[in-house]
Amino acid sequence: MRNRACHMISIVVPVFNEEESLEAFYNELSSVLPTLDKDHEIIFVDDGSKDKSLDILKGFFAKNRNVKIFSFRINQGKSEALTYGFGKLSGDYVVTLDADLQDKPSEISKLLNKIKKEGFNLVCGWRKNRKDSFAKVVASRIFNSLASYFWGVKLHDYNCGLKVYDRNVAKSLRLYGGLHRFIPLLVFQQGFIVTEIPVEHEKRKLGKSKYGFSKLWKDLPDIFTMLFLN
Ligand code: UDP
Ligand code: MG
Repeated sequence: MRNRACHMISIVVPVFNEEESLEAFYNELSSVLPTLDKDHEIIFVDDGSKDKSLDILKGFFAKNRNVKIFSFRINQGKSEALTYGFGKLSGDYVVTLDADLQDKPSEISKLLNKIKKEGFNLVCGWRKNRKDSFAKVVASRIFNSLASYFWGVKLHDYNCGLKVYDRNVAKSLRLYGGLHRFIPLLVFQQGFIVTEIPVEHEKRKLGKSKYGFSKLWKDLPDIFTMLFLN
């Protein structure tokens, strides 16, 4: 790690068919970057988008050399996109957030301060006032309660897209299928220290959710695997 006063921040953003929201997302992220550490990179992982997402991302790259783009030929999933981005990053601290502006870029500094000053290895966002459909909020409450009850990490929100990691924590993760939902547990099991802080959450105003109930069924085997393994 370099000099502690000057950290490099890597921001990793998984993108799947987000042409409607990308411009607004990039503008909002760019407006908060000057308040974070100067040295940064924004890693977009295009997860096999079929719309104009990749062209829009190339436009950001043309304007800003801190932008890096990786692109999958076919859609692989958020877990795979995150893991690929983690493999490519070179920062000391790693920020993940979704590209649809449900996670607010203005909340990044709160999580970064916590990880830098309090010695945690992973700080998760907690969408205390979550702005998703009733069914999704209830399903997630049940999941978070069961996870906190059965496993060692007591959190209200395992699956917020906004998280800040130590570099080595992000690099240690090999996520696939539905495993991005279990990141706090996977990190905790390796002996790292995990916490959460409340963050603001927004309704998805642009584009569509990629994780409805159909996707949940597809990821169900991973959820059972985790239950049995733990
Ligand atoms: N995403 C992805 N690959 C997928 C599905 C989603 O990279 O197969 C990205 C998506 O573009 C977004 C984030 O993962 O940046 C979260 O997806 P979404 O907002 O659709 O999930 P939700 O908030 O509805 O649970
Ligand atoms: Mg979303």
